[in-house]
Amino acid sequence: MDDLVFDPHPPVLVPVRGGKKFPVRRVFCVGRNYAAHAREMGGDPNREPPFFFTKPADALVSYGAEVAYPVATANLHHEMELVVAIGTGGADIAAADALNHVYGYAAGIDLTRRDLQDEAKAARRPWDMSKGFDASAPIGEIAPAAEIGHPATGRIALTVNGELRQQGDLADQIWNVPEIIAALSRLVHLKPGDLIYTGTPDGVGALKRGDTAEGVIEGVGTVTATIC
Ligand code: MN
Repeated sequence: MDDLVFDPHPPVLVPVRGGKKFPVRRVFCVGRNYAAHAREMGGDPNREPPFFFTKPADALVSYGAEVAYPVATANLHHEMELVVAIGTGGADIAAADALNHVYGYAAGIDLTRRDLQDEAKAARRPWDMSKGFDASAPIGEIAPAAEIGHPATGRIALTVNGELRQQGDLADQIWNVPEIIAALSRLVHLKPGDLIYTGTPDGVGALKRGDTAEGVIEGVGTVTATIC
């Protein structure tokens, strides 16, 4: 390995409940997956096929970490989301088989530079710099499906400094987890270590320096991020 220009970057690891660690490969996100949020963003809440974007794996921020207010935005938004951790890869996965590919679940926050996203949408440009910036993906511990099962219903909520901002139910997802995995696996070959942020309920809003966002998903876990 002495032909490497520099030492390889260490793998990104997300803590798993019970003490193990989940090595991350890629981070996918569903664009719009709760009707009320689609409406609040001016979109169509009808059941259009799910669409996806990505964040780099090193955008992940482990539980409870502080997040520096990102550069290049004046409108940092929280999006509280269920995160699916893929344990078994595959392509063209059938929805009926999809849950067999899931290692576990976590609570996550899809931080968004909303002003940059609005500009990108207006100019019909990619979303990357509004979504995939440094520290844009706080995530809680991964709870193994072997312990918690595969939650299809349950409260998903986020408070900021104790004030309720977002609240919904996993049952309100336009596309459920098996359908998301099936759709994504028709676009890319999923691999162990891939994470999927599955979209946010309505109530997204701005975070400022000093705010603490705390998210919870019934039966899954929690996520916390303090903006500094
Ligand atoms: Mn999102």
